[in-house]
Amino acid sequence: MALPRSAFDQYMVPNYAPAAFVPVRGAGSRIWDQEGREYIDFAGGIAVNALGHCHPALVSALTEQAKQLWHVSNVYTNEPALALAQKLVDATFADKVFFCNSGAEANEAALKLARRAAIERFGEQKHKVLSTLNSFHGRTFFTVTVGGQPKYSDGFGPKPQGIAYFEYNNLDSLKALIDDDTACVIIEPIQGEGGVLPASREFLQGVRELCDKHNAFLIFDEVQTGMGRSGSLFAYQEYGVTPDILSSAKSLGGGFPIGAMLTTAEIAKHLVAGTHGTTYGGNPLACAVAGKVFDIVSDPAVLAGVKAKHQRYLAGLEVLNAETAVFAEVRGLGLLIGAVLRDEYAGRAKDILNLATEEGLMVLMAGPNVVRFAPSLVIDDTDIDEGLQRLGKALRRFVA
Ligand SMILES: *Cc1c(COP(=O)(O)O)cnc(C)c1O
Repeated sequence: MALPRSAFDQYMVPNYAPAAFVPVRGAGSRIWDQEGREYIDFAGGIAVNALGHCHPALVSALTEQAKQLWHVSNVYTNEPALALAQKLVDATFADKVFFCNSGAEANEAALKLARRAAIERFGEQKHKVLSTLNSFHGRTFFTVTVGGQPKYSDGFGPKPQGIAYFEYNNLDSLKALIDDDTACVIIEPIQGEGGVLPASREFLQGVRELCDKHNAFLIFDEVQTGMGRSGSLFAYQEYGVTPDILSSAKSLGGGFPIGAMLTTAEIAKHLVAGTHGTTYGGNPLACAVAGKVFDIVSDPAVLAGVKAKHQRYLAGLEVLNAETAVFAEVRGLGLLIGAVLRDEYAGRAKDILNLATEEGLMVLMAGPNVVRFAPSLVIDDTDIDEGLQRLGKALRRFVA
């Protein structure tokens, strides 16, 4: 007998508050729950299911690898990891890749590498980490502290030191902090959890120049924006501003847990054998799936499709907003879209999410004032249209 939602409260740590229904099956951009109710998925497992649910090519990559080799640890390397690393290097600024299992771990590796390289080159004093307010970099104690949202990092005792925060899209705010003791600046090209807030090109260019001036490494956290989400393979390519270190996860595995840190050979050489590691990083199952995700997502036709679908969302949301006037602004790139509530509805994104669920549509929030869409990069246009119709029903009830 399948356990119901109430079993969550009985058996699981209460750090999550999952929805009232339990999904049991997915295909493409549709999900079915225990009652057989169907939902259209505009949430994409929080920007993870880049190819929707149970994409046949991923099912086949996973099952083929499952018959071959599951795990050997990093005492050995393995073919799927080597192949995936080569693909990432060939497609980006990077020369070297480190695999791990999540976004937080990719950022943890990026921050540790940046500090180590800075300290080895310039001395112990060069360890300052600069990050933007209201950013999100994961939940390890280092990354959650770097994230600059005290509500997530307070209450766990003494925090990692040497971290300071500047305002997103405000270069003067960074200028006031950065100096020759700065090891690195870490930034999301689009703040995801912080409200789907895109950086301006001038801001990222300015950050790059300030980092160069002070010999600080520039880390782009592309955990949410990477792997096609922006309409380019990585958002840095969309912006034309190249980081020194980049973190990827979420869409990278299309639903199988994997993270990666990418960097140049010059920087990578500071992580010599024994300085960092993880048991599962580069796991053959994860890398086999991610390799297939990469092949599909990096296809220029798929990336062009992301941009076309962005326009389809924008047009559809504009029609709904002309009728309901719920949103002040729709922002984001590619298939990472945030619809910002008008002031009179401030704090009520959760109400819209709940109404959408009732209408058979899964959406996300990005803070209390933004409804977020992060669907499959290959979502059918018919699913977009029908999902927007369901959203329309939810919005009409919301304003009624
Ligand atoms: C989700 C996210 C993370 C954390 O990834 P996990 O896999 O949950 O550890 C880090 N940075 C950004 C920008 C994210 O969106």
